[in-house]
Amino acid sequence: MSKPKVAFFDFTSCEGCQLNKLNLENDLLALLELVDIVEFREAMDDKADYYDIAFIEGSISTPSCIERIHKIRRKAKILVALGACAVQGGVNGMKNLHPADWVKEEVYGEDKYLFPSMPVQPVGAVVKVDYEIRGCPMSTPEFLHVLKSLILGRKPEIFDHAVCVECKLKENECVLDKGMFCLGPVTRAGCDAICPTFGQYCTGCRGVISNVNEKGAINMLKQHGFSTKEALKKMQMFNALEIEN
Ligand code: SF4
Ligand code: SF4
Ligand code: SF4
Repeated sequence: MSKPKVAFFDFTSCEGCQLNKLNLENDLLALLELVDIVEFREAMDDKADYYDIAFIEGSISTPSCIERIHKIRRKAKILVALGACAVQGGVNGMKNLHPADWVKEEVYGEDKYLFPSMPVQPVGAVVKVDYEIRGCPMSTPEFLHVLKSLILGRKPEIFDHAVCVECKLKENECVLDKGMFCLGPVTRAGCDAICPTFGQYCTGCRGVISNVNEKGAINMLKQHGFSTKEALKKMQMFNALEIEN
């Protein structure tokens, strides 16, 4: 029986999610026995006409991105958005908080007319996305879970509860009580609350939960001494396309 054909593509991103895969070390050889990797710019030159699973890293931010993602979608049976940039716009989304001309001028200066640019969109705003792997960078165990599930024809587990739930299950001391900021109450779980577990605050990299109560979160953060402006700014770092000013 032929192995599923798997491909990886990058759009506007730092490529950190793809690098995370090359760091799979112990699992990489076992993975190669289960799938045929047919396109992966960071590791090979080959191209293919069909993909059973296409993993997409990065946001859509230029007209050529739109053309390219449609071509990939037409050739892919299953399309998975990989990492915060692809799933919810991630840090790239902050571009949309500023006037487009100002952003171009800041980034490209007098060469700004050479670089066609448009507001940032997550992949799912342009083509159908079948599954999402969240985080900045995406978590390697979650990537392996999704890939194994898809190979076995199962639906991967989707998380839509708050990071606080995982944090409480780990019996962590809440960093808010230590005077730190935290976006755990409004951020999607699935990372095992890794940041609070190691004494850091959650910056919201996995995106907001469904039906997020933005005002409630801001009020809660105000009660812990943070201003509305600061709360909004931090919430928008990974979620500018979902959290309005
Ligand atoms: S999600 Fe984070 S690590 Fe992944 S490509 Fe975007 S910025 Fe880089
Ligand atoms: S540290 Fe953050 S994630 Fe953990 S319980 Fe407190 S607010 Fe929630
Ligand atoms: S705790 Fe928050 S910032 Fe840290 S990995 Fe999880 S979602 Fe991302």
